[in-house]
Amino acid sequence: MDLPRLQAAILIISDTAFRDPSTDKAGDILSDIIAIDGNDQWESTKRDIVPDDVFAIQRTVSQYCDGEDYVNLLITTGGTGFAVKDNTPEAVAPLIHRHAPGLVHGMLQASLEVTPFALMSRPVAGVRNKTLIVTLPGSPKGAKENLQAILRLMPHACQQAAGGDSRKLHSGGIEKLEEDAGVRSNKRQKHHHDDHVHSHDHTHDHGAHVVPKAHTRPEDRPISNDPRAGPTSRYRESPYPMLSVEEAVSLVLAKSPAPEAIHVPVNGSLVGHFLAEDVEANDPVPAYRASIVDGYAVIVSETGLSTKGVFPVASVSHAAPGEISTLQRGQIARITTGAPLPPGANAVVMVEDTVLRSMTDDGQEEKVVEILTDQVKADENIREVGSDIKAGEVVLRKGDEITAVGGELGLLASIGKAEVMVYRKPVIGVLSTGDEIVMHDRARPLQLGEVRDCNRPTLMAAIKGWGFQVVDYGIAKDKPGSLEEHLRNALRNVDVIVTSGGVSMGELDLLKPTLERSLGGTIHFGRVNMKPGKPTTFATVPLKTSDGNPATKLVFSLPGNPASALVTSHLFVLPSLQHSSGKQGRHGLPRMKVQLEEDVRCDPKRPEYHRVSLTYGFNGLLHATSTGGQRSSKVMSLRRANGLLCLPVKEWTAPKGEIVDALLMGGV
Ligand code: AMP
Ligand code: MG
Repeated sequence: MDLPRLQAAILIISDTAFRDPSTDKAGDILSDIIAIDGNDQWESTKRDIVPDDVFAIQRTVSQYCDGEDYVNLLITTGGTGFAVKDNTPEAVAPLIHRHAPGLVHGMLQASLEVTPFALMSRPVAGVRNKTLIVTLPGSPKGAKENLQAILRLMPHACQQAAGGDSRKLHSGGIEKLEEDAGVRSNKRQKHHHDDHVHSHDHTHDHGAHVVPKAHTRPEDRPISNDPRAGPTSRYRESPYPMLSVEEAVSLVLAKSPAPEAIHVPVNGSLVGHFLAEDVEANDPVPAYRASIVDGYAVIVSETGLSTKGVFPVASVSHAAPGEISTLQRGQIARITTGAPLPPGANAVVMVEDTVLRSMTDDGQEEKVVEILTDQVKADENIREVGSDIKAGEVVLRKGDEITAVGGELGLLASIGKAEVMVYRKPVIGVLSTGDEIVMHDRARPLQLGEVRDCNRPTLMAAIKGWGFQVVDYGIAKDKPGSLEEHLRNALRNVDVIVTSGGVSMGELDLLKPTLERSLGGTIHFGRVNMKPGKPTTFATVPLKTSDGNPATKLVFSLPGNPASALVTSHLFVLPSLQHSSGKQGRHGLPRMKVQLEEDVRCDPKRPEYHRVSLTYGFNGLLHATSTGGQRSSKVMSLRRANGLLCLPVKEWTAPKGEIVDALLMGGV
């Protein structure tokens, strides 16, 4: 068989090797086995070291298995024993889509022939997306025995896992497979025609055999709970890999639709939009030669004749439209700031440099004025045509924001733009979920078990505050039908849906199954390493618009606890909306250094976003005061919260006066 070369990766899981890679022995041994015993079927192996940390392991496994550049075989070594820190199976098992107990059995059996201690290893094996994962023990000897026991079979398994054509792969029957793999079963030599030792889904092509063929790819199948299966069948640990906040934000940005350019009139509703084109001025600004002072338009002669002297005031030029008569030599014209220069005049003398000599008979007008200076030069006190903006000049660039400060809108107005191209802003629907959630303004007192909806008003206010149109989709019950109906209704009308609640581990947490199983959406992440907000979920749902065009809608399913919903909306929803509305550069909340007003404890396990009040301090720094208890259900932790401290994962109390990073949520 003409076999393509396969890609393998070795993941060393060990706190010690992570600190000092030179202590690792298993990596080289396993690479050598693949190179020497691998029948020339493997590309050179990639290698990584992670500590015995579930999140680090899951992140790396997901990197090797989830992208376009997935590897065919991921071999981990270490962390499979019974020591407290050994947690490789706990990290890897939830990520496996299809378990392979046969491989586990084979590895254990091989080692068992060497030592009864083989039973002290807790390996798992199986397929995630298109990658076969096996977890070997950390001892170089054990790892070697295990790998040698299964390596020959790996190319076949990996090709199938990657979607290779089963019919072709099996076209020579089981004996040909064994021959290709360089393995031969004793049993087979005796019972030549007994194909049934081979597992069920392996097809033996005898011509008439119909090959069962799946029409979906494993990675496209739902991994959320099946709500019909009831609470006893639900996952007892989230099957979604834990992403860091940074990884989750990158995914959100990668999956958020590209900005869409639209033509809009230039008026106040433009504020907060980003330009989708360079804007040029058609006309110069100012459009005429104008005086920059109140005074008298004069003619400064090139022959050096002095302006000093007594002159009749021939005309008046006010800053108003209309005809202005030409100034003759020997005359002056009174002129106001911003008024057009009379034809013939070439300078303006400030009123301060003049005295009135005589008035008209009615005393209402100036007749003769004396100019006291002969220092006035041609063009003095004149604002030239186009001295501010030249005709054809680019005044605003594609990507510039029309800010609420107002200047950009003024600039567009001053060049006479009636319409510009900007990026359309997404419209966002907000939905609460939960059988216990009731409207905040319901007259009846709360019954036992009822909770007033705090998230919907909070999220709607936040989104509006970021400058987006928001639509209220009310409260959905924890019933598959209710949730699906609410979501479908919203999906038809908005670009992005933000829900809260229903993403934890309870049997009534229906968001993930509904998104995946009922709406055909893809969940891009379902767990983020952060506090609060761990179960934050992000999905895209494909849809046809009313005019039949395909569209992708985004769904952010935020955790139900009010502090979690607020924090995660600012961390994940805001950057997506900014991206889709054409904002360039860094997305998300502004990050800055602030000084602690009190001691603040960090969480030793998860990066924490601690709600604080930020105020200006006398030392020029922003000062942070905690909003108090940070339990994610505590609504009082939202009071006066205009900032989020970004606390490191550390067994540490950051002392008063310490400078730490913070995200600015609101005005100071
Ligand atoms: P869930 O994620 O649905 O399990 O919700 C977690 C917690 O948040 C539960 O105590 C809910 O009652 C609470 N919760 C969910 N949605 C809201 C909401 N809209 N307003 C206030 N509390 C909520
Ligand atoms: Mg709920």
